[in-house]
Amino acid sequence: MDPAVNRPGKLLITSPPPAGRYGQFGGRFVPETVMPALAELEAAAVAAFADPQFLEELADLHADYAGRPTPCYFASRLSEHAGLAIWLKREDLLHTGAHKLNNALGQLLLARRMGKRRIVAETGAGQHGLATATACALFDLDCVVYMGEEDMRRQAVNVAKMNLLGARVEPVRSGSRTLKDATSEAIRDWVTNVRDTHYVIGSAVGPHPYPWLVRTLQSVIGSEAREQMLAATGALPTQVVACVGGGSNAIGIFAGFLDDSQVRLLGVEAGGRGLGRGEHGASLSHGRPGVLHGSQSFLLQDEDGQVDSTHSISAGLDYPGVGPEHAQLRQSGRARYIAVDDEQALAAFHLLCRLEGILPALESAHAIHAAVALGRDADAEGPVLVCLSGRGDKDIDTVLEWDQG
Ligand SMILES: *Cc1c(COP(=O)(O)O)cnc(C)c1O
Repeated sequence: MDPAVNRPGKLLITSPPPAGRYGQFGGRFVPETVMPALAELEAAAVAAFADPQFLEELADLHADYAGRPTPCYFASRLSEHAGLAIWLKREDLLHTGAHKLNNALGQLLLARRMGKRRIVAETGAGQHGLATATACALFDLDCVVYMGEEDMRRQAVNVAKMNLLGARVEPVRSGSRTLKDATSEAIRDWVTNVRDTHYVIGSAVGPHPYPWLVRTLQSVIGSEAREQMLAATGALPTQVVACVGGGSNAIGIFAGFLDDSQVRLLGVEAGGRGLGRGEHGASLSHGRPGVLHGSQSFLLQDEDGQVDSTHSISAGLDYPGVGPEHAQLRQSGRARYIAVDDEQALAAFHLLCRLEGILPALESAHAIHAAVALGRDADAEGPVLVCLSGRGDKDIDTVLEWDQG
């Protein structure tokens, strides 16, 4: 077999945005003590992305360890149901069950190049913690994962997996004991131990260079999907749909199509229980510009700038901020963002189970709902490409609880 056939897609490498700015968004809102570490990380990433040996090592890991390229799958029964051709980019089939490993493998290769042997990470549902713990085991690096106590309770299996992989999971008891608080703790640890520690942020958020770095590492999704759609259908999709928590799977798949102005981009946020304060996680649809975790973006906050609490049936979308590039894409109109609520996501979860034999992550189910809803528009034209960001194994308990009401 031609070895090129199963080669994973290439990263879509761009220069870092000047000063880390996406229009008015992005930047570096951090204590003076971490500025040198951010500059070091940016320089290391720029050098690594220009180094064929680094790119080859990452591509080998993608192919032989992680399971790239992931398939692009024509969901025929779902398409029939929606009245619209729907294709799924199967990140649920990636090792550890979600797109998070693309980022963790790349960042840990970088950490190793920088000589940093201690790794800290934050996690919500546990998928990023799991991906980081996995890559730390592979590279023999020390791993500390900060996780809110509430999330540890909701995601006990992922906590057990991280422990088995040799990571230390630190419970976070402040605030709402969820992702926002875990992120603050991880940043605090990093600021204190910055000389020997790399902070692996799990989404396209945080101070520059993280949004650019994470986007570049996740762009493998979009570069593969673009080639796969062209090969399979002879055309580009009319629309690309992805769920948005911090925005890494969305920006990763969007990256493949940003220059194709005819391809519409649709980001789907958590509508939660409704659009009241504290009931959802739809920062782009309902937030205002503000600063959280080191960068400027859309943010759910009250009149005094206090960050709102959030809710979503899916822990991965339960975050009050969003990556700065999405803020810019929203403002420029290049991408559109909508909110899908808990009930709709749950119905889409069941729909994909029954029509396609795929249990999606509840995060990804938000995108499935949005794609199916596009079919209600009589003028809608496919094919629509959906990023199926992860698998639903972690969510079975949540789904059963809801179904029993
Ligand atoms: C973490 C996660 C998300 C949300 O994160 P993004 O950075 O917005 O992609 C979505 N889907 C799954 C399966 C996740 O694990």
